[in-house]
Amino acid sequence: MAVQNVESHVAGQWIGCDSAARDIHSAVTGDLIARAGNSALDTEAMLEYARAKGGSALRAMTFHDRARMLKALALHLGQHKKALYDASFATGSTHKDHLIDIDGGIGTLLVFASKGRREMPDDTIYLDGNIEQLSRSGTFLGQHICTSLTGAAVHINAFNFPVWGMLEKLAPTLLAGVPAIVKPATATCYVTELCVRIMLESGLLPDGAVQLISGDIGALLDDVGSQDVISFTGSAQTALKLRSTPSILHNATRFIAEQDSLNASILGPDAEVGTPEFDLFIKEITRETTAKAGQKCTAIRRIIAPEPLVEAVITALRKTLERTIIGDPSDTATQMGPLVSQAQRRDVLQKAALIEQDATRVFGHPEKFQVSGADRKKGAFVPPMLFYCETPDTAQYVHDVEAFGPVSTVMPYRDLDHALRLTNKGKGSLVASVITNDGDFARQAALGAGAFHGRLYFNNRQSMNESTGHGSPLPHMVHGGPGRAGGGEELGGVRGVLHYMQRTAVQGSPDILTRINRKWTAGSAEVTRDAHPFTRTFHELEIGETLHTASREISLADIETFAHFTGDTFYAHMDEAAAKRNPFFPGRVAHGYLLLSFAAGLFVQPDEGPVLANTGLDNLRFLKPVQAGDSIQVHLTVKQKTPRNQDYGEVRWHVTLTNQNGERAAEYELLTMNAYSRG
Ligand code: NDP
Repeated sequence: MAVQNVESHVAGQWIGCDSAARDIHSAVTGDLIARAGNSALDTEAMLEYARAKGGSALRAMTFHDRARMLKALALHLGQHKKALYDASFATGSTHKDHLIDIDGGIGTLLVFASKGRREMPDDTIYLDGNIEQLSRSGTFLGQHICTSLTGAAVHINAFNFPVWGMLEKLAPTLLAGVPAIVKPATATCYVTELCVRIMLESGLLPDGAVQLISGDIGALLDDVGSQDVISFTGSAQTALKLRSTPSILHNATRFIAEQDSLNASILGPDAEVGTPEFDLFIKEITRETTAKAGQKCTAIRRIIAPEPLVEAVITALRKTLERTIIGDPSDTATQMGPLVSQAQRRDVLQKAALIEQDATRVFGHPEKFQVSGADRKKGAFVPPMLFYCETPDTAQYVHDVEAFGPVSTVMPYRDLDHALRLTNKGKGSLVASVITNDGDFARQAALGAGAFHGRLYFNNRQSMNESTGHGSPLPHMVHGGPGRAGGGEELGGVRGVLHYMQRTAVQGSPDILTRINRKWTAGSAEVTRDAHPFTRTFHELEIGETLHTASREISLADIETFAHFTGDTFYAHMDEAAAKRNPFFPGRVAHGYLLLSFAAGLFVQPDEGPVLANTGLDNLRFLKPVQAGDSIQVHLTVKQKTPRNQDYGEVRWHVTLTNQNGERAAEYELLTMNAYSRG
């Protein structure tokens, strides 16, 4: 078989290997299959190309444009999944593992595409939080805004997920409007190269948005500056070395690290043998041990079980692990493939030997196991290995050494405090799971382990059929962990995008903030037009356009009619004496919902027109009671406009109800869908 020359994509050109390239072997057969690396890559030019070409093109697009691009990329990759699957078998990945890496990566793009359209504006500025009132009368206000960094994101990825590892970083980076230089781990970079090729050939990405370094990274990190971001996934040792690079320290370059982690899973004391939770615990551990042959940053390394249940846990795990079919990953019957390389195999066995100094091996011997359809010696195969540590309080290695393979250790706990003490001995982890049906135990675990973990995963009989698994980082939820896990945070929806943007506190007058934010700020100038706003299309409406309605007096008959019509005969509306005894009311008052209904009656324009639907109402506050004899008037202001699809967009209106004295009785935001054209 020909040895593949894995290329890099540098400043718009594909560049092959040179004599400095490193050899890459098949995880399954041990054969030399590829070479990657070129010592002459012009990394300075790559950074410049990213910043000048990719960055400026991406920053010219709105969040919605970028989100549409991510969706199109995901759909395009989806059409080429088979090629990616085929290339991935040599990394040791089984059919099931491909679903995590390849389908999971594409799914992550889709989630960010959706979040970008739904949760971010069709703009290039993202508003973080609400307006802050900084002065007594509201003429000086504050708002935090986020704008795209103008540098490049350098993504240094681990070997275990050549596709997901790249896409989970690319999605938030591109959505933020920042170009990326991807440097995959050499051992599996041929899969990443194929994925990058598919993305670039799609023509969906602007020039310079994504570049690739296959093999060594060269001097790239020496040239990073204050607008660049490094996102790293890999070992703690490499993270420490890279984050100490003088240019990174000197420029305070952002450095986000995901590194090894001694993740734990706790079995609740309620989850006795025979409960759905006990079986679930065994199922989760078996899956986490064997998926990707345990080469997952989130895999369960420490199994923390109540003392009386330890024996049952070990017996059950032995049974399930025994049934694992290890072998050729391209065979659909195979449940666990080999490790990525012989070097990784040696590393895992050395680390397992250290763990064995603290614990007894209760399952899996590296020389005694069956491999189907492949040569056990030539491939980087190991069996699942289970250890039992009787004295976890004094043991060192079990809490400290991560064997990055199918290796896990069972340890007993006496009570909740003890379980949490053991869990936190990981000194900061990506994830811990707690399998329990006891809400109080869960609350105590969240309180006691939260500070040490980036994610806590609770599972039980109620959630087990739909839960996504202890080991699955989800694009919606943060991925990362404190301390030993690297102190970084990725994903988490829009939070992940903001890692590639600068948050700036902006202070100024309401008019200035309205213009910067493209969102109407209370106190800024109103725009008046002759036509009723409901007769104007989405694009015709202007931010700040305001309607002042006529006023309407509320009568006692209105209150009584509304009470009997709706059935809401609450005493504050019906009983003068009882209402007076209530500290909130001066006497009988109008229903809040009556006021909303009358407000709609005042501002609505009844004819068929561009307003298609009222889709909701946000931030409703009743500020002052309205009594029979009072009058209300409505001010309706266009606050924000967000395109939603080809035909219509969402208009957010600021609505204020005032009484006859000009005092605010109620305030809310009304959401409508408005057509782009009439008829
Ligand atoms: P490494 O830390 O060796 O490598 C991670 C990445 O860093 C690779 O892309 C590697 O490239 C690159 N790298 C290594 N040295 C340098 C350098 N001097 N300059 C620039 N880049 C460099 O980790 P591995 O991939 O070998 O994985 C080993 C360990 O990482 C695992 O045992 C596990 O503990 C941890 N890990 C943690 C994960 C997490 O998400 N928390 C995920 C995966 C792994 P190259 O391959 O070319 O050397």
